[in-house]
Amino acid sequence: MQAELGHLLRDKLKDSCDRNADRAVRRAYRLVLLGAPGVGKGTQAELLMERFGACHLSTGDIFRAARNRPAAELAPGMVTALEFMRRGELVPDDIVVRVVSECTEQLTCPHGFLLDGFPRTVAQAEALKGILARHALRLDAVLDYELPREQILRRISGRRLCSRCGISYHVESRRPKVSGFCDNCGGTVIQRDDDRPEAVLVRLETYACQTAPLISYYRKEGILVTVECGETPEETFARSLVGLRSLAGE
Ligand code: ADP
Ligand code: ZN
Repeated sequence: MQAELGHLLRDKLKDSCDRNADRAVRRAYRLVLLGAPGVGKGTQAELLMERFGACHLSTGDIFRAARNRPAAELAPGMVTALEFMRRGELVPDDIVVRVVSECTEQLTCPHGFLLDGFPRTVAQAEALKGILARHALRLDAVLDYELPREQILRRISGRRLCSRCGISYHVESRRPKVSGFCDNCGGTVIQRDDDRPEAVLVRLETYACQTAPLISYYRKEGILVTVECGETPEETFARSLVGLRSLAGE
């Protein structure tokens, strides 16, 4: 499983690092994006990545990429992980931590990193601290995206994504130019199977019980930035930058 995951990840990261970042305003930010499913973390990650040129590391994307491979090619650990994912439940900590700890090269990227969807439990946060400490690194900030539950449900039910490159769309607010096909790569635009209503309720519940405790965990560490999601991704992005600057005392 290890080599295979590394391969999937390198493909993804090539994507992240090749983008033309706005180098003038850039410093190496090491960030975690926190927030319930559906708040738009993926879109914020894309915007932050363009701005900072950092590596984007999404554990959800890694598992989805594994799911597109033939089951026979997957190690048993990964098959188990995908079963949890399909039900909307969290993949066990040991599997997720192993996946992330393989990303040494990316975690030490000189342009920084954006962790999206990891950590999702206090145990994962502790593991992350250990992994970073081994490289003499630490997190700069944790952006916590807040959005009322009714809006979360509306966003998730309309959410679509490219089955090939993973870019996200929305039936109301962000349609592809050609219906059903990705603007970026021409791949088919689909609904995630864990965006079905029954899996969504499990994911929201899981977030509240297992991930929300990370908010106070990172507040205690003094690196939490709370961002109230705006009407548009750009508005939310602008608030993220304001939050990051005020945390840095700028
Ligand atoms: P979302 O934030 O929209 O729920 P993600 O794309 O981050 O979705 O993750 C999709 C699924 O992948 C999760 O519901 C879970 O099953 C699995 N997963 C991703 N990251 C983690 C993690 N850090 N710990 C456990 N499971 C994870
Ligand atoms: Zn695409």
